[in-house]
Amino acid sequence: MFVHEAQTLGFRVAVLEPDPGSPAGAAADIHLRAPYTDAAALATLAQDAMAVTTEFENVPAEALSWLARSRPVAPPAAAVQVCQHRAREKAAFVAAGVPCAPHAVVAAAADLDVAAIAALLPGILKTASLGYDGKGQVTVHSADEARAAFLRFGSVPCVLEKRLPLHREISVIVARGADGQLVHLPVQQNLHRDGILAVTQVPAPDIDAALAAEAVALASRMADSLAYVGVLCVEFFVLADGTLVANEMAPRPHNSGHYSIDACDLSQFGLQLRTLVGWPLPAPRLHSPAVMLNLLGDLWFADASSTTPRTPDWPAVLALPGVHLHLYGKAEARRGRKMGHLTVTAADAATARAVALQATRLLGLPAF
Ligand code: ADP
Ligand code: MG
Repeated sequence: MFVHEAQTLGFRVAVLEPDPGSPAGAAADIHLRAPYTDAAALATLAQDAMAVTTEFENVPAEALSWLARSRPVAPPAAAVQVCQHRAREKAAFVAAGVPCAPHAVVAAAADLDVAAIAALLPGILKTASLGYDGKGQVTVHSADEARAAFLRFGSVPCVLEKRLPLHREISVIVARGADGQLVHLPVQQNLHRDGILAVTQVPAPDIDAALAAEAVALASRMADSLAYVGVLCVEFFVLADGTLVANEMAPRPHNSGHYSIDACDLSQFGLQLRTLVGWPLPAPRLHSPAVMLNLLGDLWFADASSTTPRTPDWPAVLALPGVHLHLYGKAEARRGRKMGHLTVTAADAATARAVALQATRLLGLPAF
């Protein structure tokens, strides 16, 4: 989606990605099929690219800092490094005065001592790095369970977080220019199923203006405190009493901002491009209420026991008004894998929701 945005503005794009079947690589003008740390591939980027960004937060930060010696790199390597590691990320929230979940950093099984973690139970043990879509996470009810889970994760560094009673989940996407100018997309309300984003609604139906403004202010504060350049997404929990708790950050365009392609006059990918090349950042405007449905690989299987993939009935869904279907061109459908998304736009939020609900029925997705 970033490649398409850049090409629309006349740029040519090179993608460094080892996977030969990478959708971004297929869309790019040049696909450098090499590891993220490959010296020759990085030298090509340093020589030929006017600027460099990343769409994946687990690119080794050293690769980004090496490129930053000769080219503008956004987001900065140091900020990416913070977001790569849950313990560093929590420390950054604390340092910026942004409330986050009560937690403990777990370096060894001994850190999961009953007395030390009693106040965090029941909790969620999360691997500090490389987790996504709820992977590398397990709910634990006792210190014994926590230690067993830690060992099952291979004793890698973890964070134990108190499991909070979530009332709602929201996210805020901000874009910050090299000069410190900040703009943001409207606050998104997100529904996760099994730890994976399922539905995003904008405007957020259950979030009042004051809470939304507070979330934007906290996300902006995070971007300032990281001296961030680029698009940053901050996910928040909303507790029943209206308290906001920062969950995690993504140093890149985020799944909960994909609706902005079809519902805003400037998308998160357009914002990323502008911050990268130093172009102006006018405030994006939501021109249509929107509902985004993630399309996971499960849709490619008729039922839980089937092993042969089929193509979902796209023509039926595309007969609905205001449906924007995005399929990423991934070679293989797997359960739980993000294969695409669809955004419904309409003149009003009630219609967007009603049409999105019709789409869920046609696709066999649960209602929301
Ligand atoms: P990921 O990197 O997989 O997105 P998250 O930390 O965002 O990991 O967790 C995924 C989802 O799991 C969250 O969106 C939320 O629904 C749930 N979750 C995570 N942490 C907590 C928590 N401390 N309390 C309650 N639910 C949580
Ligand atoms: Mg998350």
